[in-house]
Amino acid sequence: MEELKRCPFCGSIPTLYHDGLHQVDSKRKYHTTWMILCERCHNASMSNSAYYSFDEDGVLSPYDEKDGRKEIISRWNSRYKED
Ligand SMILES: [Zn+2]
Repeated sequence: MEELKRCPFCGSIPTLYHDGLHQVDSKRKYHTTWMILCERCHNASMSNSAYYSFDEDGVLSPYDEKDGRKEIISRWNSRYKED
């Protein structure tokens, strides 16, 4: 797992989580919202919408090759540069 940079406000390690899989249509497509939140000071948070689907073997993978989890981590890490 890629490492999250520390919260720019209080310096603690933020938490990455998601709100679960929500089916959006009948074609095995699911929506989830990834979130990063500093649970210590609640000053820093970020969210990112993403879609996933199950292939014929039942393996869950990012829809359209767009990995929402990787995206939010790189967005967080580029937004909050450590000087
Ligand atoms: Zn914080």
